[in-house]
Amino acid sequence: MTCRDCGKSIEELQFKESMDSLGVALCERHTRLIKKIILDNDTPLEAIQLFYALKEAGAHPMLEWWDGKKSVDIAISRVKLNIEIDKGYNMITHEQAISDLEEAMHSFKNGFTTLKIPHLAVKYYLEDTVQNILGIISGLKANIRAI
Ligand SMILES: [Zn+2]
Repeated sequence: MTCRDCGKSIEELQFKESMDSLGVALCERHTRLIKKIILDNDTPLEAIQLFYALKEAGAHPMLEWWDGKKSVDIAISRVKLNIEIDKGYNMITHEQAISDLEEAMHSFKNGFTTLKIPHLAVKYYLEDTVQNILGIISGLKANIRAI
């Protein structure tokens, strides 16, 4: 068993510890680092799992990227793609709905694409979610080239 971040080999106990708490096999150091990120940003676990899956797929994601106003769960900077995990724990309010739309408008104006992914997609269809994001990345790349 190896850490999915640094590739260092990890022992059974550490493997179990990281899998139970984060759902990703990480060494002691990376478990600590990720837990700190979660504590600081209220990062959903699905964002951590998706981040490592995208990293392994070669998408070069960044976790909790600061866009100047707020922290984005996952960013793919070379195609200006921001990915937010939609926790959907409770229904959004009408104020939240319009503020989300305004936020989407501002990021579009700045050339960013914001993708909201329901946490259930990550939880149950991680591989399909990654494949779809890779498709979006190549679509965005083609658009960038076209400009
Ligand atoms: Zn590690």
